[in-house]
Amino acid sequence: MVQSSIQVWEDFFKRYYWENILELAKNFPEKRSLVVQFPDIERFDMELARELLEHPDLVIKHSNEALSSIDLPADVVFTETHVRIIKIPERIQIRELRSENINKFIAVSGLIRKATEVRPKIINGAFKCQKCGEITFMPQGEGKFVEPFECENDVCGRKGAFKLVHDQSEFIDAQKLRIQESPDDLRGGEQPQTLDVDVDDDLAGLVSPGDRIVLSGVLRSFQRSNREGKSTFFDLLLDGNSIDIEDKEFEDIEISKEDIEEIVTLGKDPEIYKKIIGSIAPSIYGYEEVKEAMALQLFSGMAKHLPDGARIRGDMHILLVGDPGVAKSQLLRYAVKLAPRGIYTSGKSSTSAGLTATAVKDEFGDGRWTLEAGALVLADMGLACVDELDKMEADDRSSMHEAMEQQTISIAKAGIMATLKSRCALLGAANPKFGRFDRYEPIAKQINMPPALLSRFDLIFILTDEPSVNRDTAIAEHILKAHYAGELSTRRKNIVNSGISTDDITKAMEIIRPVLEAEKLRKYIAYTKRNIFPIIQDDARKHLIDFYLGLRKQGEAPDSPVPVTARQLEALIRLAEASARVRLSNVITTDDTSRIIRIVMASLKQVMTDPETGRLDADIVNVGMGKSQRDRIKVLREIIRDLQKEMGAAPIEEIISRAEESGIKKETVEDMIQKLKSAGEIIESSNDRFRVV
Ligand code: ADP
Ligand code: MG
Repeated sequence: MVQSSIQVWEDFFKRYYWENILELAKNFPEKRSLVVQFPDIERFDMELARELLEHPDLVIKHSNEALSSIDLPADVVFTETHVRIIKIPERIQIRELRSENINKFIAVSGLIRKATEVRPKIINGAFKCQKCGEITFMPQGEGKFVEPFECENDVCGRKGAFKLVHDQSEFIDAQKLRIQESPDDLRGGEQPQTLDVDVDDDLAGLVSPGDRIVLSGVLRSFQRSNREGKSTFFDLLLDGNSIDIEDKEFEDIEISKEDIEEIVTLGKDPEIYKKIIGSIAPSIYGYEEVKEAMALQLFSGMAKHLPDGARIRGDMHILLVGDPGVAKSQLLRYAVKLAPRGIYTSGKSSTSAGLTATAVKDEFGDGRWTLEAGALVLADMGLACVDELDKMEADDRSSMHEAMEQQTISIAKAGIMATLKSRCALLGAANPKFGRFDRYEPIAKQINMPPALLSRFDLIFILTDEPSVNRDTAIAEHILKAHYAGELSTRRKNIVNSGISTDDITKAMEIIRPVLEAEKLRKYIAYTKRNIFPIIQDDARKHLIDFYLGLRKQGEAPDSPVPVTARQLEALIRLAEASARVRLSNVITTDDTSRIIRIVMASLKQVMTDPETGRLDADIVNVGMGKSQRDRIKVLREIIRDLQKEMGAAPIEEIISRAEESGIKKETVEDMIQKLKSAGEIIESSNDRFRVV
């Protein structure tokens, strides 16, 4: 057993870290940190390790002094080097930090929510006496800037005034971070808590918002002050010692040997797709196809890096559009529960950072610019479920294209230039602008979202609420049974002699019990994402190509709309990869392609079919208007132009009668005239007389 001292640390370094120190000497002064693994200190001496956790200020000081005084064979002297300690076995949840943790060495894990720009901080001020010119040095602590009490020159000894001499003062890079609890540590919709962290020198600028890290350091407290003066309440701040970046997917989910055995058995089960669909939102009746698509989204395709530097996303994006009260929000909430790293947010109410990211100058940054991560950055390598996506802020709207396709978010504002990662799948829900969905209008007109954004979704589903006796009865029964099960269990919990047995409850719950529990499914998904990387078989490839070309062919006939674009082909590939992963298969077969063609066709039929012609038309989503409508507008414009030539301006009755001859209905003409007018393509020259601009 030893007590910490410079000598003890020197012994430790020589026995365990000599190679690392030589390496550091080679790269000094570009590199200034010696990273020490806590378990090594424990192996060296348990007591020293314990002392470090209990009295970090003194022990870390010893270690730093030992490092800088160590005799190096090379011609190097370490100055301003740091010992950074990682891999503390016990991590504390941010919400569990208490006063007993103050001034102790702790490790917390989470996501970077905010980060200020890196700016210099003064650590040793050189003050020049304005009277005698003597320089007095004042080391600067945390927070407040301090000036010398009196001039160090014995002859002078005046108490001011002093002037700070910049080029003799010492500065260090500094940055403030805010770390937020990881969503995986929060089950059941709790609000994540945060902790502010100060880092300096080579730790500054190391991480960006959205990064998952383990931070260790000494927990400090500082006094709050309010208008009445100093408060008795203290705030917490972590004085950062080390940062460990976690870039692996699902490191947080542990899979045991027994788990793997169970997963492999499940993967061979011919019913596996049914079982997984039956585990997604079992309290919601129906929507088999949507649930199947959601399942594939959870498993996801594979991101690919091509030799030319391009990256193709493997995550697929799904949009649910529909009438109010059709369980869109419920489906989203359920998906968050199943997805590793799932985040639920609403397009309109989320934080100031919105869905993407923002740069602000606020109190947190103390006048510096702060970069704050929004939902899609926080959901990096996970699933972002965004409800009311149509109500997102204008700022987000413009960065969403990049976020969805390249899966990055670039910010260039004031001094801040940054690219944040948003490698997540997006499950969005949107309500129609006019309350209910109208099958005869193109989707882009009905939800407040630009067509370019809509075309980024791999699958769009329209959930309508059309009364039908069979379906309504089934839903009603399902909902009532679910509530009945809830009633039984609530009564049993609250009343001592309720006469309700656990068996009764289990029986009633049967209908809403997921086939696989959420915990198990999450492990299953994490396992496949880590281990299964399927490759497409020749016949499956041919199947996809034939299907795609078959659809494209419909566009070859003269005057036909473009039915699908290459985007749909990419969506098919991602879905096929996910489908193979579900059954732990390393090859994509025609079973997979048949399954996903069925799902994709269901989605295409809903959103890309021209209600007038019954044909597929990609422009309905991509441009916001189908070909038949565009053709009608062309015809109408011709009519107005002709009439204009004949009589100066086109009277409305004439336009209508000629349009009717071409087979366009009166209401449609009136509607289109309004649209052309608001688009500025025609003007009303006098009452009910129009001219083409
Ligand atoms: P939306 O977000 O689409 O407006 P919600 O998710 O808020 O709708 O759903 C409204 C309520 O109706 C929820 O409590 C949901 O459980 C119930 N509900 C709607 N459709 C179904 C269904 N098919 N099966 C079970 N419950 C349903
Ligand atoms: Mg809703």
